[in-house]
Amino acid sequence: MAESRSDWTVLKMLEWATSFFESKSISNARFSIEWLLAYVLKVKRLDLYLMYDRPLSAEELETLRPLVKRRAHHEPLQYIIGETDFFGYPFKVAPGVLIPRPETEQLVELVLEEHKNTTEFTVIDIGTGSGCIPITLKKERSDWAVTATDISEDALVIAKKNAADLQAEVNFILNDVFKPTPEVIERKVDVLISNPPYILDEEKASLDKEVKDFEPELALFCESTHKIYSALKNLAEQILTNNGKIYLEINERFGEEVLSLFNGPFWDAELIVDYAGKHRYIRGIFHGKKSDF
Ligand code: GLN
Repeated sequence: MAESRSDWTVLKMLEWATSFFESKSISNARFSIEWLLAYVLKVKRLDLYLMYDRPLSAEELETLRPLVKRRAHHEPLQYIIGETDFFGYPFKVAPGVLIPRPETEQLVELVLEEHKNTTEFTVIDIGTGSGCIPITLKKERSDWAVTATDISEDALVIAKKNAADLQAEVNFILNDVFKPTPEVIERKVDVLISNPPYILDEEKASLDKEVKDFEPELALFCESTHKIYSALKNLAEQILTNNGKIYLEINERFGEEVLSLFNGPFWDAELIVDYAGKHRYIRGIFHGKKSDF
């Protein structure tokens, strides 16, 4: 941005920043500057195409400059703007929570689709992050009772803010899935849903800078998939109603391994693929507790 500020127009900025981002190997270079500029000008991204000749004021350039800098350091757009879209709803995001992914929208869709006609329904989401799963469920099905937990107090602050902004009545509980509190264990729920941290510590090196340098480790990584999914299964066995269901998002590399945890008399479970054709979910039905037989 070396030139005199008064020379800048929308088009000129889009072109300059696109090549600047490209020189820094930023993915979606053009898209990134479109989002940032639209955010600063308070217009819709596509409206920029109708205002190519609009000059940028010194003040607008001042606001934009640090945002461009942050993006050039590979910070995800969603953290810079502070918001993302999930299932058509705006969710606040900050570095304390995972940025919700489209795969998780598909998980929510699955639960909604399979329980279209179910009322008087109770759902719990374990590891809620931004609260995208329970809040969306509650928005789509106001008749369902929805609870969500997270181990991180920071995440719960953001999730509660999202619930308030979106006017969704969700009950939030601070809870560690490895040491569930009585408030969680004493519940009876029809569905347990979770998108737990499922990237192995050893996979960290292969991740994009955007993910590994900015998103919370607590939300991304696990020591072993066996450990985290066993804890979810154990919890499910304590709180699911007879014929209650579990819906889990999983690491595509460990589908069969996670599925095998559900072998045995009390579960019927299967792998489900995402839109990219990858093993991304497990759906299981729980047939009562051992002590019930
Ligand atoms: N449930 C949240 C999401 O799907 C957070 C998941 C997580 O932190 N692993 O985005």
